[in-house]
Amino acid sequence: GSTIGIIGGGQLGQMMALSAKEMGYKVVVLDPTPDCPTAQVCDEQIVAEYDDQEALQALADKADVLTYEFENVSQEALRKLTHVYVPQGVRLLEITSNRLAEKTFIRDEAQVPVAKFARVENPADLDQAVATVGLPAILKTVSGGYDGHGQFDLNTAADVTNLKANWPGGILILEEKIAFTKEISIMVSQTRQGQLITWPISENVHQNHILKTCMIPADVSSDLNDRVHAIAKTIAEKLDLRGVLGIELFVNQETDQVWVNELAPRPHNSGHYTIEACNVSQFEGHIRSIVGLPIPTITLHGPAMMVNLLGDELLQARQAFPDYPEWHFHDYGKAAVKPGRKMGHLTVVGATGIDDLSKYFQTI
Ligand code: ATP
Ligand code: MG
Ligand code: MG
Repeated sequence: GSTIGIIGGGQLGQMMALSAKEMGYKVVVLDPTPDCPTAQVCDEQIVAEYDDQEALQALADKADVLTYEFENVSQEALRKLTHVYVPQGVRLLEITSNRLAEKTFIRDEAQVPVAKFARVENPADLDQAVATVGLPAILKTVSGGYDGHGQFDLNTAADVTNLKANWPGGILILEEKIAFTKEISIMVSQTRQGQLITWPISENVHQNHILKTCMIPADVSSDLNDRVHAIAKTIAEKLDLRGVLGIELFVNQETDQVWVNELAPRPHNSGHYTIEACNVSQFEGHIRSIVGLPIPTITLHGPAMMVNLLGDELLQARQAFPDYPEWHFHDYGKAAVKPGRKMGHLTVVGATGIDDLSKYFQTI
């Protein structure tokens, strides 16, 4: 059988590995944490840093196909590897690991709506950027941010003055603050044969900048639904995508507008519902795409809801689980519980399950 190598051993790698194993592949993971979530379900772990050239080459030597579960893989290290097949390629990482490159690609190459933005490197640039982008705006670090880390809200001129006095440093991007009524996301993939595959749109609610719940299908007009699927396909085509790409978008239902927020070159947290609610999950779709297998048109078994279990909620939900037989319970097997840390998730399919899960989460 063939072997799939995964760079990164978190929950995304774990669920990729579970799909790959089900399909009969051998899986090897590279991650510095012994017994990380992915290592718990795969055949072998190489314990090393993600940019350790020797360890990456050892992974490449063991694997027929190499993939990654996050965008901050060292591009330089990947380029130096020999005798390796990385179907997703390095360009996908170049674009998605840098918000400036990403927004430039979305605006100029894919030519789909995105917030106005400007590059900012020093306090003088910020004044210039505010003049073009306007206020309110959000200043973000161009790379490495997640769950809203490294973001500064700029609503007034006073906020701008204040930020200049407490300069964060690094390369930054100023983004127009979009007046959205909803946040949604869509997963897309492309097969080696060139078929573009999209999954149903999820409607996402965040708590303290961390994804909390997803409702599927998103409650949007059928016209907007079609436009979002078309946007996803255009982006996938322009990237010559392999594997799954998660696309986060903003929607304003009053003006009937949609904007792309950001791209993730991998399965996405808001696509976890696909494991139980679709004929082919985003993780199986990812594996199929990278190994060159076809993917059928995606169907949804019924309305679904996914809730992230953050910190202590994993234990609470585990205790409540016996009362809710329709819950699909996922425990990532992380050793340390930290507040806000994604420890697992719950998915339900069908109106009754959604009702019960919504009620349960109102009580805790
Ligand atoms: P993730 O964990 O999704 O990777 P991140 O740190 O990369 O998060 P973003 O997705 O860019 O951050 O932003 C986090 C949240 O902040 C968004 O989901 C949205 O609620 C809000 N936000 C970000 N950019 C904008 C914008 N330009 N206009 C309005 N709201 C925004
Ligand atoms: Mg992000
Ligand atoms: Mg985001």
